[in-house]
Amino acid sequence: MNSITTPDVNQLWDVIVIGTGMGGATLGHALAKSGRSVLFLEAGQQTSGSGWVESATPGFGQLPPETRSKLLLRGGRVCEPVDDGEGDSGVVPFMGIGPGGSSALYGMALERFFPQDFQTWPLSYQEMEPWYEAAERLYRVRGTVDPIRQELAPHLLTPPSQSASNSAIFGELASRGLHPYRLHAGCERVDGCKLCQGYLCDRACKNDSRRICLDPALQFENTALLTETPAQSLEVQGRTVTHVVTPRAKLAGRVIVLAAGALVTPGLMPEQTNRSGCVGRYLMRHAIDLYCLTKAPSYESASDTKDLGLNDFYHVDQDLLGNVQAFGPALPANYLLNMPGRSRLSRLANPLISRIADRRARSPVVAAMLQDDPLKDNYVSGRKIHHRFGADDLRRQQRFREIVMDNFQSLGATQLWKKSKNRAGLAHACGTCRFGESPETSVLDRWNRAHEMDNLYVADASFLPTSGGLGPALTIAANALRVAEEVNRIL
Ligand SMILES: Cc1cc2nc3c(=O)[nH]c(=O)nc-3n(C[C@H](O)[C@H](O)[C@H](O)COP(=O)(O)OP(=O)(O)OC[C@H]3O[C@@H](n4cnc5c(N)ncnc54)[C@H](O)[C@@H]3O)c2cc1C
Repeated sequence: MNSITTPDVNQLWDVIVIGTGMGGATLGHALAKSGRSVLFLEAGQQTSGSGWVESATPGFGQLPPETRSKLLLRGGRVCEPVDDGEGDSGVVPFMGIGPGGSSALYGMALERFFPQDFQTWPLSYQEMEPWYEAAERLYRVRGTVDPIRQELAPHLLTPPSQSASNSAIFGELASRGLHPYRLHAGCERVDGCKLCQGYLCDRACKNDSRRICLDPALQFENTALLTETPAQSLEVQGRTVTHVVTPRAKLAGRVIVLAAGALVTPGLMPEQTNRSGCVGRYLMRHAIDLYCLTKAPSYESASDTKDLGLNDFYHVDQDLLGNVQAFGPALPANYLLNMPGRSRLSRLANPLISRIADRRARSPVVAAMLQDDPLKDNYVSGRKIHHRFGADDLRRQQRFREIVMDNFQSLGATQLWKKSKNRAGLAHACGTCRFGESPETSVLDRWNRAHEMDNLYVADASFLPTSGGLGPALTIAANALRVAEEVNRIL
């Protein structure tokens, strides 16, 4: 495998891809397959392990901060705080760093956005459709067709047989006239699958961008990966990026693709790309609430925990709400107890909290994912972020809550955790280099190329002008394949 430590500073790469997450690795793989020379730059280190870092390390919360950071990094987790303006030492976003980026931790739900989500985009759903299908094939998505959008005909492999508890939940929802379907997921469900969500999977099971794209790309002769090599800035001459500056060397590429994630990519955009004033702005993150279904039959194993998808409330009247889906395996007590900011008193209550959390672990939990409005006042700038849900987000959220409580009442729905209030919950961050028709109101053109540059593209979640009511990973992957074809064409 071409994981190199010393870059050849004299080489001119066809493409330098900055970041190996869902966008970067998917695009880089497609270009490597087409015979292009591709250098991946990755800020994180090689990762290893499986299971929650907090659970695997006794006394994690009491370890010195540097030791905790090292453990988190090895487990593929971001460990440096960002300043979110809440007046304390900041918040560590729950996101991925290292090969595979956030996808190495993700919950594997791989769902298409709705055609209506494309209304304000510079391209139509129909144009994205073949790329959605290609991404579903590539990431080997399993599930069943959503009855309320059957005409979209996604490419789905057969899901594993359904557990008794999920059949009961589906039956109850169907009896209310709702349309549950088997959630679309990029997971091989190997024997004993724990649906590793929130941490690395060490088996050939999680279809993330490292296993599906980065590692296979590195089998090609003209492809290399430099880990622990963050891009620091881009050198520009006129409309061309000539070099990527890293702590090790300045590296040259004919095309440069930024895919360092929606919180980092804006900080790497050259000044002249900000004519619209939109670089770093319109940060979105979804408002996600969790509900425990206290009257539903308990799950028998972790692999039962992510089966349900429901889009009956995606659009209600004129309101854009979102998808309701099974949340996946419960967050372990050790993670909750080690969250920064917990008081000494609450630590004394650890054994009690652990017992309650363990009992809850087998109760079905669903997540309601509200799409949030793109607001210009929400931004990332360096290590500072500012995000507030707008008045209309809060109104729609209240409506969504009432609808979920009403429709899941017979299953004993209890609001568990307003994840929207979770400061670290930035896993779906997007929107900070929006694409659009006009250079006056957007950063990228319809091919994700910076309006003011000839060879600078963005392939991560930054391009999204709206957040959709579903996880963004499949849309990021599909778009990366689309952009890869364009880059290949112009090279
Ligand atoms: C726990 C968790 C669960 C999730 N579950 C789902 C789900 O089920 N479905 C779904 O659709 N979405 C899910 N998501 C969100 C999804 O994973 C992300 O939206 C997606 O991975 C974002 O892709 P990206 O390419 O924008 O960024 P990332 O995948 O985050 O990749 C960014 C990459 O850039 C690297 N990088 C950062 N800075 C630099 C730099 N200066 N130089 C070089 N490299 C750099 C990072 O290390 C990383 O590898 C989840 C996320 C998390 C964290």
